[in-house]
Amino acid sequence: MADKKSRQIIRQAKQKNNESIVVATGCYAQISKEELEKIEELDIIIGNSEKNNIVHIVENYSNGKQEKVGKIEEEKEFQDFGTITYTEKTRAVIKVQDGCNNFCSYCIIPYAKGRVRSRKPESVIKEIQEIVKKGIKEVVITGIHVASYGKDFADETRLIDLLEQINKVEGLKRIRLGSLEPNLITEEFVKRLGNVDKICDHFHLSLQSGCNDTLKRMNRKYTIEEFEKGVNLLRKKFPNVALTTDIIVGFPGETEEEFNKTYEFLKKIKFSKMHIFKYSPRKGTVAAKMKEQIDAKTKEKRSNILIELSNKNEIEFLEKYVGKELDVLFETKTQGNYIEGHTTNYIKVKARGDNLENTIETVQILERQGLELIGKM
Ligand code: SF4
Repeated sequence: MADKKSRQIIRQAKQKNNESIVVATGCYAQISKEELEKIEELDIIIGNSEKNNIVHIVENYSNGKQEKVGKIEEEKEFQDFGTITYTEKTRAVIKVQDGCNNFCSYCIIPYAKGRVRSRKPESVIKEIQEIVKKGIKEVVITGIHVASYGKDFADETRLIDLLEQINKVEGLKRIRLGSLEPNLITEEFVKRLGNVDKICDHFHLSLQSGCNDTLKRMNRKYTIEEFEKGVNLLRKKFPNVALTTDIIVGFPGETEEEFNKTYEFLKKIKFSKMHIFKYSPRKGTVAAKMKEQIDAKTKEKRSNILIELSNKNEIEFLEKYVGKELDVLFETKTQGNYIEGHTTNYIKVKARGDNLENTIETVQILERQGLELIGKM
């Protein structure tokens, strides 16, 4: 589906502006250049390792010096060319890691993105110090598989060491983690994480399935029992923690019984939000070749059941905070003279007030409206 959408976007780009130079890069370009080559509207195809060279490549193309298919090589080292993405004036997303060694059976990333490589802590800290000077209060630490941070280093520096260093950056108020691997959540990790006082109590733990047999076929490297242990450790250390997850339904061979096991496990864990994906085969992966592919109708049905459960849990999670006080980092003005922002556990809160952008305020929560909370100062 994603490939199809990418091809459509490429064609639309050219249709919108016939003079444009359209460049395809990223994972799809990395692994399927033959498919992309067939698209007439596309001018240049380059691999992930060439992304930072894109201006130069486009200039060369204008001068007739660039072929349609450029360099497509596996990246070996972390490309440290500044990775900041600002989501709001208050928050920046910092990529600290790339690639993955896990080879989940449905995923193309290890083939497309290559092996784990991490950004040096000094470079991460320097960048954060610079953006804090510009007024950023919150950073989101992210990567393809951020739990593997440091595995390619010769020394013992790992994600928790990096977080401890980031915590010391003066002026920074919040550190948010993109996503975590269940295997990383050990007692020692949670104990140290508890001392990182800027860490936000919102963790995304990709579960994918609540059934051990399905997890095995997915080549995920944990059991639901281990996963639950991690959840309990986090809940004990962070009482208001928001735990979110990703689930794939309709993975090849997923029987009704397996799906029911997932459902029961999800009911027990009660995530504050779940992202539900219907499995779609990705060429070149082990799962795409598995025989017992699940039909679209069953996937749809299972997806709807889990979406309903997720919505119910999300509302329950939000309701808990009505009448309580929460610290909100205000980001943007919205309709009705409201300004909205997020709590540490990533609840969207709206309130009225002047000059609140980029400030952290304690808000009294009055009510829930949909998936937001309304409060007053
Ligand atoms: Fe790696 Fe995540 Fe893909 Fe698994 S799903 S191979 S952990 S990137």
